[in-house]
Amino acid sequence: MKQQAAKNIAIIGSGLVGSLLAIYLKRKGHQITVFDRRPDIRTVEFSGRSINLAMSNRGWQALREVGLEDEIKKIAIPLYQRAMHVNDTPVYYQKYGKEGEAIWSISRGILNRKMIDLAEENGVEFRFNEKVWDVNLPEAKIYTGETEKGEWKEYAYDHIFGCDGAFSRVRHKMQRRSRFDYSQDFIDVGYKELTIAPNEDGSHKLDKNSFHIWPRGKFMLIAMPNLDGSFTCTLFLPFEGDVSFETLTTEQEAKDFFKEYFPNVRKEIEDLTKDFFKNPTSAMVTMKCFPWTYWDKVALVGDSAHAIVPFYGQGMNAGFEDIYELHQLIEANGDDWEQIFKQYEKKRKPNADAIAELSYRNFIEMSSKTANPMFLLQKKIEKKFAAEHPDKWTPVYSRVTFSNRPYAEALELGDAQERIMQHVMQLPNIEEEWESEKVTDTILRLIAAADLA
Ligand code: FAD
Repeated sequence: MKQQAAKNIAIIGSGLVGSLLAIYLKRKGHQITVFDRRPDIRTVEFSGRSINLAMSNRGWQALREVGLEDEIKKIAIPLYQRAMHVNDTPVYYQKYGKEGEAIWSISRGILNRKMIDLAEENGVEFRFNEKVWDVNLPEAKIYTGETEKGEWKEYAYDHIFGCDGAFSRVRHKMQRRSRFDYSQDFIDVGYKELTIAPNEDGSHKLDKNSFHIWPRGKFMLIAMPNLDGSFTCTLFLPFEGDVSFETLTTEQEAKDFFKEYFPNVRKEIEDLTKDFFKNPTSAMVTMKCFPWTYWDKVALVGDSAHAIVPFYGQGMNAGFEDIYELHQLIEANGDDWEQIFKQYEKKRKPNADAIAELSYRNFIEMSSKTANPMFLLQKKIEKKFAAEHPDKWTPVYSRVTFSNRPYAEALELGDAQERIMQHVMQLPNIEEEWESEKVTDTILRLIAAADLA
């Protein structure tokens, strides 16, 4: 571990990534100021029922490193399985991983408040309601103020970290430079949050240790538990088309929609029709860019460097993993910030691209493939084989969620598994013989040939 000289560092953004990075850097002895254009989230009233996130291995690893895992687990609920609510079928459960493996439901707002508290306890200074309008990259200066055209304050730092989310201002400044790659792709599905209130005694209305899914082909509803007994539901629905946000414009249309597609949960959703029109419909985007750093002065971390669609539950986890790996590079390189930044972007970029790809594929899988019988058969064969030969077949989901191996490796091995399954699905009479030894033997043979385990 190399020593570092204390530096004066600005972090733009007090979201989950900015506040955790602040804790890491403060503990290395640096002077840290965090700027956020929003008010202090601890002073903003919310019910604690807004967006829920699933925290998994990569997130926990980053928290463990600074001794925060146990503290944060107190405000999270473990989910060991998916609860599938398919119309006309009783609810059925699918375990996520091996015994005891879970993803954890946590409220983004509650977690963010806690992280800011912890950062402050460590001596981090927060400047809320202070928006960064411009950045001087080579001189590591930032400019804040009330309005874009008004008067600005100038601050000079040794380093700046842009943790200002998918529509980052810091990145925006980097984008204007030559040879800066940037792409942004919105999907045609939006989301809206709704709530299932607790029972009168404060208990949960559905199993609280499950991630609830109501898949309906091109759209779906999910629900994750909160500590107060409620669930936050998210409705994912196309913006346009036959069944879409565009076609649900009156309370009656919204009521009819829920009656038709979600009859069993409809009555549980609090103020359904009121919330449906009160709560915003939000968009989802994949954003990729490169480079992520400017000299030894500026670095992007979290969503500002890589925003992904939420269908793998990995956005925050990936951002926390950025911090964990950045920290390892700091330990290895000491004061050589140029090396730290260079190695950081080189190491993280392929993994950010891989989780972006996996997340997008999951979206496609959920929205168009789950109705395809051959796809469902393939999943059944994979599941059976994985149960019989756990040492030979780790599902991609487990590689992403319950492991700390690189995302790029999960993508690569997942593709190799897919090639094997494409072969298997071509076997004659696969629909009838999918449980036969012949199928198992074929998979074993193809695994050996591909040198895959
Ligand atoms: P943000 O949370 O966007 O924070 C950026 C901060 O910067 C904000 O506080 C903002 O006010 C501030 N800011 C912006 N511009 C400026 C400026 N110019 N000056 C000053 N401050 C500024 N991830 C998971 O791991 N698991 C999940 O299950 C999961 N589910 C999700 C579900 C949905 C519906 C969505 C949308 C996302 C989900 N994510 C999930 C992703 C996760 O929410 C994000 O990856 C994570 O919150 C990103 O954190 P961040 O700190 O990088 O950015």
